[in-house]
Amino acid sequence: MGKKELQVAAIENGTVIDHIPANKTYEVAKLLRLHDLDAQVTIGYNLPSSKIGKKGIIKIANKFFTDEEISKLSVIAPKIILNIIRDYEVVEKKTVETPGELRGIVKCNNPKCITNNEPMQTIFNVIEKNKGILKCHYCDIEQDISEVELI
Ligand SMILES: [Zn+2]
Repeated sequence: MGKKELQVAAIENGTVIDHIPANKTYEVAKLLRLHDLDAQVTIGYNLPSSKIGKKGIIKIANKFFTDEEISKLSVIAPKIILNIIRDYEVVEKKTVETPGELRGIVKCNNPKCITNNEPMQTIFNVIEKNKGILKCHYCDIEQDISEVELI
């Protein structure tokens, strides 16, 4: 068994999230609310990657994410790949698609924005998917997806 296979092996059923930029590994875990799951979660950090230098891998046993959950990941790690594992085999590889709208996922960078001053959900329209430009639904300010903070 090669090195690469070793890294993604070892769960019977579940999801292996691969190619996470190393410094985003814990943000991915947070966004997917892995701490609330009753599943077996293994987090690998700073693993060598030929594609992105260093990467993180998260393995979650017996858990399959919805497309909506997966699309949220585009905010922090658009190039990740989700390997769907059944019976120790990768049966599907999913890539992340940036959704047209982000609800309640990231904070607005404008301190005067109503969403930063009232208890309410943020809404952003993704106006340029390729460049990752978001526009706040409430204050209309455009912001770069790499510069917004998760809620
Ligand atoms: Zn705003």
